[in-house]
Amino acid sequence: MSVALGRHRLAPALDGPCRCGAEATRTLGRFPHCEDCADDVIERCRMLSAPEGVGVGVPGLARSEYGRRAFDLRCSLCGAGWVGAAFEPCWWCERALARLQADQRERLLWPELPDREDRHRPAALRSWAGRLARGVRAELITEAEARAAFDRHKRRCSDA
Ligand SMILES: [Zn+2]
Ligand SMILES: [Zn+2]
Repeated sequence: MSVALGRHRLAPALDGPCRCGAEATRTLGRFPHCEDCADDVIERCRMLSAPEGVGVGVPGLARSEYGRRAFDLRCSLCGAGWVGAAFEPCWWCERALARLQADQRERLLWPELPDREDRHRPAALRSWAGRLARGVRAELITEAEARAAFDRHKRRCSDA
């Protein structure tokens, strides 16, 4: 459900009462909330284990026309709006994170390093090896990818 509904952009959030009907005293995820619902939302967000850098959909009004448990959602991080299940991970954040990781992978696996004649090269290679090892530990790249990248670089340089 979430993916199809995830592309359904919302109009800007409106002022009004909390979704429970009580008077709203604060705004969360750009939706009006009463204190009780706000505390509940903050607690739920805290308990959720969405990956770092990915927000969750803070529920606003129920949207029963999309299903029994569908709500207007606002991302707790990036503010994107969609209709889906309360607290589901934000599709836009996930996409942005994936792009960021792809960029990081690219820079890690295809670094710009000093030429063979450059006296800074050994230090740059050592520091790159360290970055590769950290990338493997962070599960950004696999060990095989790190090895292949290092070998590829050595090969390219000895060919030159
Ligand atoms: Zn409320
Ligand atoms: Zn988001």
